[in-house]
Amino acid sequence: MKPVTKNDRLVVHVEDLTHDGAGVAKVDGYPLFIQGALPGEEVQIHVLKTLKSYGFAKLIQIEKQSPFRVTAPCPVFDTCGGCQIQHLSYEGQMNFKQKLVRDAITRIGKLPDVPVHPVKGMDHPWRYRNKSQIPFGQENGRVVAGFYQTRSHNIADTDICIIQTPEADAIMAGLKRKLIDMGIEPYEEQTHRGMLRHVIVRKGRATGEIMVVLVTKKKKFPQREQAVELIKSIVPETASIVQNINPEKTNVIFGDETITLWGKDIIEDRIGDVRFEISARSFYQVNPEQTEVLYGQALEYAGLTGDETVIDAYCGIGTISLFLAQKAKFVMGVEIVPQAIEDAKRNAELNGFTNTLFEAGPAEQVIPRWYKEGRAADVLVVDPPRKGCDEQLLRTILKQQPKRVVYVSCNPATLARDLRILEDGGYRTQEVQPVDMFPQSTHCEAVAWLEFKQ
Ligand code: SAH
Repeated sequence: MKPVTKNDRLVVHVEDLTHDGAGVAKVDGYPLFIQGALPGEEVQIHVLKTLKSYGFAKLIQIEKQSPFRVTAPCPVFDTCGGCQIQHLSYEGQMNFKQKLVRDAITRIGKLPDVPVHPVKGMDHPWRYRNKSQIPFGQENGRVVAGFYQTRSHNIADTDICIIQTPEADAIMAGLKRKLIDMGIEPYEEQTHRGMLRHVIVRKGRATGEIMVVLVTKKKKFPQREQAVELIKSIVPETASIVQNINPEKTNVIFGDETITLWGKDIIEDRIGDVRFEISARSFYQVNPEQTEVLYGQALEYAGLTGDETVIDAYCGIGTISLFLAQKAKFVMGVEIVPQAIEDAKRNAELNGFTNTLFEAGPAEQVIPRWYKEGRAADVLVVDPPRKGCDEQLLRTILKQQPKRVVYVSCNPATLARDLRILEDGGYRTQEVQPVDMFPQSTHCEAVAWLEFKQ
């Protein structure tokens, strides 16, 4: 028997917050998810739906408010799916994320004694994103642009997004206003009609350079001169304007073909002293200020003296590898996307590193082969996707036993699972440092440091 039924009204105590930013209250152990409610609050709710093992309720009134509740500053916070916890103060967000990591490490990793430090957050947790991917569309004959609503492809139309750069705001609003005058029809997903699908604005934080990518359905783009002039007039710091063509009926943003319309093909950025070239489609961390903090932490945990050989598994465009190459004897990076490895090699060259090697392929296959070839590592750094490390890679680590492992994670649950496996194989987790890469969202990064015990 479920303890509540649809349309019940009751007052509950909110205990937790989900990954979607919903409050969780339990009625006789039965969890109810309540959008907008915060941990520590007493709230009056209306039960909307009950499933076998959990239900959903609507927040009617807050009876006792969390001391960490604030008014979300964004005008479209309620509809937009971009941020989940703007209604929680930044201090509250830091507490929440530290708890998220600590709970995972305790419950899943069974490591209650491992220190999980307070989150390293930002002084100004706004306007941090260096890349905005803005969908354009139409609604009742009006051009709309902004960000997708939660779990949907409807656009939450807005002229400002306070986690993106002011330049992205200006381009988003300016293009929206002039699009019809220029004769450019925004794309319509249902009917596959129209021209302009997405606008991507990227900024090199250290250089100030701006790149604007116009994703169009067709290559033929008669208004391109006008669009280029408009963008340059809105943001004079624009260094590169490119067109990407995506003719497919798909929700993938980019198509295969990219043409430079004006200026450079790439923009540049720096993390610490390392330079990076960023092209329209390159993967690059979206919060460069905190990336420096995250990589700084990885570097500290790697404890390099200049004599070590390091393997960077899941290396992307080699951002961590090159950061480590400043202090290591030799760094080998492996990544499954060949284009990213091309970027990594180019960036190594751009910075004059001669102590790096990059290879495209699955880390779980390439690393065992490296070991067979006599390329052993003193320190192994992993930065896997949300699903965590491949089992075979974990087995390789346990077999080869590099002295130190630095685990950079974007998902506390899989981090904790993998730490347990490494602990069972003889590693000891020294400490875990969460770093806030995505303020206002529930996403949480953490770096763990492990040592092999003889
Ligand atoms: N370290 C990088 C990127 C981390 S994101 C940075 O900080 O920028 C995780 C990366 O793992 C992605 O680039 C993804 O393409 C890659 N990846 C996913 N599965 C992989 C596998 N089996 N082997 C190697 N790389 C993989």
